[in-house]
Amino acid sequence: MEANRKWLSLPEDFRKKLIANVRCSNCDDIVRITDFIVVNHPVGVMLDGKCRNCGNKVVRVVEDV
Ligand SMILES: [Zn+2]
Repeated sequence: MEANRKWLSLPEDFRKKLIANVRCSNCDDIVRITDFIVVNHPVGVMLDGKCRNCGNKVVRVVEDV
């Protein structure tokens, strides 16, 4: 699982910051992503999950490391 390995190769502090800084269009705010999976993306990897506040689908692209 290549995408997941890339994600886990990032420092834990950095990953925590990314998880807590995801834009939710429904909340119109920066939220924490939850229940996410890590998938490949043309520029790196993408977190594909849900907004912790409202459950809306949110994604966060992480550029290649
Ligand atoms: Zn939300």
